Amino acid sequence: MKNTIGLFLIIAMMFNSCNCDKNENSAVKSSKNKFIGEFFINEVIDSLTNKFGKDNMQGIQKGVTQAAGLWTEKDGSENEFLKFCMESYVAEKNERHSLFMKLSRNYEILNGYFNRMSIELKKPLHMDVGTVSRIDEIFGSYEPASHVAEDFFNNKTAFLVCLNFPYYSLYEKVANAEKWSSEEWAYARLGDLYTSRVPSDLLLKLGEKVSEADTYISEYNIYMGKLVNDNEKQLFPDDMKLISHWGLRDELKSNYNSAEGLEKQRMIYEVMKKIITQEVPMQVINKNDFKWNPTSNRLYNEEGDVHANPEPDTRYQHLLNVFLAQKEMDVYNPFQPTYIVRKFDSEMELSQQEVEKLFVDYVSSPVVKEVAKLIKSRLGRNLEPFDIWYDGFKARSSMSETELDKMTQKRYPTVESFQKDLPEIIGKLGFAKERAEFLCSKITVDASRGAGHAWGAEMKSDNSRLRTRIASNGMNYKGYNIAIHEFGHNVEQTISLHDVDYYTMRGVPNTAFTEALAFVFQERDLDLLGINNEDANRKHLMALDNFWSTYEIMGVSLVDMRVWQWLYEHPEANATELKAAVNEISKEIWNKYYADVFGVKDSPILAIYSHMIDAPLYLSAYPIGLIIQFQLEKHLESNNFAQEVDRIYRNGRLIPQFWMKKAVGREISPEPMIMAAKDALNYIK
Ligand SMILES: [Zn+2]
Repeated sequence: MKNTIGLFLIIAMMFNSCNCDKNENSAVKSSKNKFIGEFFINEVIDSLTNKFGKDNMQGIQKGVTQAAGLWTEKDGSENEFLKFCMESYVAEKNERHSLFMKLSRNYEILNGYFNRMSIELKKPLHMDVGTVSRIDEIFGSYEPASHVAEDFFNNKTAFLVCLNFPYYSLYEKVANAEKWSSEEWAYARLGDLYTSRVPSDLLLKLGEKVSEADTYISEYNIYMGKLVNDNEKQLFPDDMKLISHWGLRDELKSNYNSAEGLEKQRMIYEVMKKIITQEVPMQVINKNDFKWNPTSNRLYNEEGDVHANPEPDTRYQHLLNVFLAQKEMDVYNPFQPTYIVRKFDSEMELSQQEVEKLFVDYVSSPVVKEVAKLIKSRLGRNLEPFDIWYDGFKARSSMSETELDKMTQKRYPTVESFQKDLPEIIGKLGFAKERAEFLCSKITVDASRGAGHAWGAEMKSDNSRLRTRIASNGMNYKGYNIAIHEFGHNVEQTISLHDVDYYTMRGVPNTAFTEALAFVFQERDLDLLGINNEDANRKHLMALDNFWSTYEIMGVSLVDMRVWQWLYEHPEANATELKAAVNEISKEIWNKYYADVFGVKDSPILAIYSHMIDAPLYLSAYPIGLIIQFQLEKHLESNNFAQEVDRIYRNGRLIPQFWMKKAVGREISPEPMIMAAKDALNYIK
């Protein structure tokens, strides 16, 4: 896990939000609402072109139009806008560069110290330093940077940036990727800062809707001990309470090798189907008053049967609420006018069509059927829809966890001992002594309260944080395994802050790229302890495991995408209509890419993911991440690990496809993953 608060939240808070009044309605795309009209914009462009010459016309056009798109009545009259543009446009190349460097320096100061403030204020919450008091929570949830964007529109810096360093769409970035110099790339990244001006009440409303959806999901538990089959027999322990869908799914996965496993799995599948169709009686959601047969939907207690009352499509009402809150913001995002565009083009920087095509190519691969055949023969039965979570391709470790615990506890009794060993650890990965010492001098290890995270710095004078659990008797294996994962993040964070050409290029294209390195490190954790983990089949089992889970999550993501397309096509829909659409879409995807493989038609299972409700369109990042990680791992396997990590992560925040091409020589492609699975079929029976 990576703590993204540092980068994304600050950027989002600083540059995409502001506390503006109703006049903001004018800062919109539709020209009828625009405060500065088309006609006047052309006059400003002409005036600037006359002053600075025709050579600059293209840049002037772009900059003026974008600044005008965000300018509101509150910012000044049309003439004041003209005056601002005439005085603020910088045509001369060296002067513009010097303006860019000054802006970069100032943003590093602001981001760096705001980030540091958050790190320090959240310390009592994140680090293992005694009881958390109310005051710790108040300060820990305070965001010091939340009003900076408003300030920067007010003092006109935002407009200065728009005018001189305009925003380029993903389409333009793709077209220019190879042509741009590193300086032009850095200018374009500065241009990403101010693309919207969403009124704070809308942001607040979205926050509320997301948080309500989140609460609904986190309180959707099923008391498994209350489930019964047709013979009124209980299959699960009395005290088992599982959250939808993660808890249900993990229990399903864990039942592949038990005696009553198959019946339990079928029962969980029935529960899941009824969650999707909203037929689960309200009386059993987060309640344990009645026995419930999920197949017949019979509900009863000692006194007899009770009528089952389903929820009024609450699951879909939450999704609809989030959609409507997002849609209200569309008009304030002139360059990214739908949530789909914001999520894909803007956040992931891969278009939705491109991602969909990658997924469709993968789920249609003939290798899917071959792997399914292998699973069928390993299970000794026909596949059922829930076998999308087949869990039998796991490699066993040669050492027990207790032995591993002993080893890591002895080696790392304290935070300091792990901190001290960092240069040694990356030395083993091939980093030269001096380089290893530099990288590690920029990483601070802390004992965390939670599972662990890596929190990057936002200025070169600060350190990134590596947080993991360290008990009083030392670091156990789990803590060590997480620490190595986080260390991968920290190394990326350090290289991509210190060694990129310009500050605005710091970081990686999106979170998948930092997760990739974290997993590459984590994968080597036993080697780093000096344990020989050479199981001949390990690599092939992993390839199949990866392949099958990617196949599963891609289907889920395809449903998620189609549902949002449907929502934009049917903005007036109610929750019941949305429920019908989700059910139909999930079956459609199933029938197209899964039914043949499983020999079962019309399963809605791909619509079970909770993220679909509380974090829409987030799911696609998983399979994209898995693909990137696989390509990177393959590349590092056959090259000098340390040199390549150092070279690759210096690329900074280019767009994903261009970054990949520079990193591993080809764009994002599932082909290596498919080939590895195909190869593995020759070894695993
Ligand atoms: Zn991570």
